[in-house]
Order: sequence, then C-alpha cells, then structure tokens
Amino acid sequence: MTRSVDVDVDVLIVGAGPSGLVAAIRLLERGLTVEIVDAAPHQAEESRAALMHAATVEILAGMGLASQLLSRGQRIDAITLADGARPLARITLGELDTPYPFALGIPQDVTEAILVGRLAELGLRVTRGIHIETVTQDTGRCRVEGRRTADDEPWTGVARYVVGADGKNSTVREQAGIPYDGAPYEDDFILADVELAPPPSRDTEARIGFSPEGVTVIGRLPSGRYRIVASVPREPEAPRHPDRSYLDRLLASRGIPTSTAGEPVWSSRFRISHHVARRFRAGPIVLCGDAAHVHSPAAGQGMNTGIADAYELADRIASAASGDVTALDAYDRIRRRAAAEVVRLTDRITRVALVRSRTLRATRDAVIPVVAGIPPVGRGIARAVSGLGRSPLH
Ligand SMILES: Cc1cc2nc3c(=O)[nH]c(=O)nc-3n(C[C@H](O)[C@H](O)[C@H](O)COP(=O)(O)OP(=O)(O)OC[C@H]3O[C@@H](n4cnc5c(N)ncnc54)[C@H](O)[C@@H]3O)c2cc1C
Repeated sequence: MTRSVDVDVDVLIVGAGPSGLVAAIRLLERGLTVEIVDAAPHQAEESRAALMHAATVEILAGMGLASQLLSRGQRIDAITLADGARPLARITLGELDTPYPFALGIPQDVTEAILVGRLAELGLRVTRGIHIETVTQDTGRCRVEGRRTADDEPWTGVARYVVGADGKNSTVREQAGIPYDGAPYEDDFILADVELAPPPSRDTEARIGFSPEGVTVIGRLPSGRYRIVASVPREPEAPRHPDRSYLDRLLASRGIPTSTAGEPVWSSRFRISHHVARRFRAGPIVLCGDAAHVHSPAAGQGMNTGIADAYELADRIASAASGDVTALDAYDRIRRRAAAEVVRLTDRITRVALVRSRTLRATRDAVIPVVAGIPPVGRGIARAVSGLGRSPLH
C-alpha cells in the first residue's frame, strides 16, 4: 500500500540556507504554493558569509528588507588593496549604479534570521528535521522522499518543480545525476571573528592584503570585531580552530599593521574546492546556491551568488509554470555563466595576491596603483566585486 503524501505543492525546496529562503520568498511573492524542508533541527548559528554585496542588498531591498539589513549591517564604502602595510589602491563603491552603492558587513546567521522573518510574514515556516534521500520524476510530477530525523519515519512530498538548495554535498544534484565538475585549491582557508587593535583600516573599508604566503581579507563586522578570511599553506598539524597566537603570527608574517585584542569568538580552518555543476537543471529539478557552485571565499561571493541564483530561479519557475517552455533553460544558461564568471574573478584575485617572485611582485605593486587609479578601471573592479553585472535585476 502506498503512503499518502505529506505535501503536494507547486515547488518543493530542499535546503533552508540563504538560497532556499530567498527562492521561497520570491516564489510566494509570485503566487506559487511552496514547501521548504531542511534536515537541520534549527537555523545555522555560524556567521559564515559576512559580506553582502550591493547586488544582494538590492535584491533583498526589493523584498522589503532594506531597513532591517541597513540597521543591522556595517556599511562598507571602499576596498583597499595592500601589500603588507603598504596600501596600493582604494576601490570606492560610492559610484556604483545602484540605490545601495556600498557593501554590508553582516553575519550570515543575521541575514538568515531576517529572511526567515519575511517568510513567516508571507505565511510559511521551514519544515525542519526532514532529511531528503531520493528525488524521482513521474508523469509531470516530482516525488521527493526522505525521513524525519526525530523518529526516522518516512516523509514524502510531491511537486511540479524541485529546487535543490541543499548545499555543496547536494542530494538533489546527485539524484538528478548532474556531475559537479571542479578541483581542490592547493591552500587551506581560515576564518576568524576577532577584535583587532589598532584598526587595520577605516571602519567603513574592507582590506584585501597581498602576500606570498596568501591573500588576507579583513572587514569590520557590526559587533565591532573584524572578520579575517585568509588562504594559508596546507599544514597537517595546523589547528582546526586558529587561536589568538596563530592569528597574530599570521598578521605579522604578512606585514599587516595590527594584532588581536582577545581570543577569536569564532574561528575555523577548512579545505575548499571550486566546482560548477555541469547543468543547473534536469527537467523540473533545478539547482541554486552551493548545490550549483562553490569557490574560494576570497571575494566573498558564495552566499551573494546563491541569492542571485535563487531570485532568478524563482522568476523563471513562475514563468515556466505559466507555460514558458524556455524559462528553465534560460535560468541554466544565465546562472551557469554567472557562476563561471565568479570562479574566474576569485581565481584572478587569488593569483594576483599570491605572486611570489620578487620582480613580479614589484611590478604588480607598481602597476596596481596606476591601473586601479584610472576611473573606468576602478569602477569596473567595483562593479565586478559588487555582483551588479551578474544580478537578475540588471
Ligand atoms: C566556514 C565557512 C565560511 C564561509 N565564509 C564565506 C564568506 O566569507 N563569504 C561568502 O560569500 N560565503 C562564505 N561561505 C559560503 C556560504 O556560507 C555559502 O555560499 C552559503 O551558505 C550557501 O548558501 P546555500 O543556501 O546555497 O547553502 P547552505 O547554506 O549550505 O544551506 C544548505 C541547507 O541544506 C540543508 N540540507 C543539506 N542536505 C539536505 C538534505 N539531504 N535534506 C534536507 N536538507 C538538507 C542543510 O541543512 C542546509 O541548511 C562560507 C562557508 C563556510 C562553511
């Protein structure tokens, strides 16, 4: 005897990270019925992505969230490029063609809490504790099956479309048989939220530091602490959670003129690869966010790109549901191109930052101030980092 289904909706979203939440909000705004499930018992509490670029602020502002974001984020008006203590160039964001010409320092858990609040206003809650295991298609409907993590009881959802927003180890992607092409980075990455003194830059500036040892990005969080993101050579005995003395050695070895003023409130060391799914759709099953692509955190693009995917995807699903047979192919084409562009952008930043030869380093340090000082070039860099050129709104 077949079990009755637990939900039957237009769109079933697997994963309630930032990508899944934005897709759910936009789909509800477009009038579709939506279910969003997540295996985790509660929203993630780690700050993870801490930089929200202008394109993302614009998308979320369109969902009525501007005042909450602006009141809870730290405005960042410029990015300084530096070699050790020596500033090379200052990229201002103020001339970006958007009502929000800046970036925001805002921890991912705060962003997610704001999105969950908006979802609740629209009458939907995330169904938690559902671990999805299989996704199959039959006569124009998708069948999504999993288990309740609390009691291991089966759970079944039926939907016209399934959105895989279930992160880099996506079950939906695997079930759809979509390869995740890519390769590991040679370096590890560390992240830390920590007090620094003296301030490494103005409060409203982020700093990208170049050094033969690795790229170091530092930006101020609304709490007054700083987020450090750094690539570091892989060492088997390096600590999993870098402490104060590790961070001080890192800052000193890279000539960054500051040091810690306490233990980090959160820190992590991780290995990462860059991947882009070979397709972002298999029939009515579509991927967005980390399920579709991952890359180095150096340019702070992961969450931002996922949110842009989710917004574009929701609009394309709404069009497909009203009969536009080209809509999901357009999504696949547009967002795969955006993901490839982000991988190229982060690779370029990393390569420029990591130059090891003395001569090349001197050349780089001489060329950057000149080139970045040419107004159209400076504006081009700001636009590439802001995500505006890849935004579904532009
Ligand atoms: C330590 C760390 C630091 C980072 N730092 C940055 C940064 O500085 N800047 C930046 O832009 N990005 C950063 N990122 C990346 C950023 O966090 C991700 O790009 C972003 O979270 C992607 O959002 P998502 O919604 O696509 O996926 P996720 O946030 O990964 O959400 C996926 C969700 O799917 C759920 N799920 C998974 N499998 C299943 C299943 N089978 N059934 C049901 N639910 C499932 C998970 O529980 C999870 O809630 C960082 C990531 C990490 C891990």
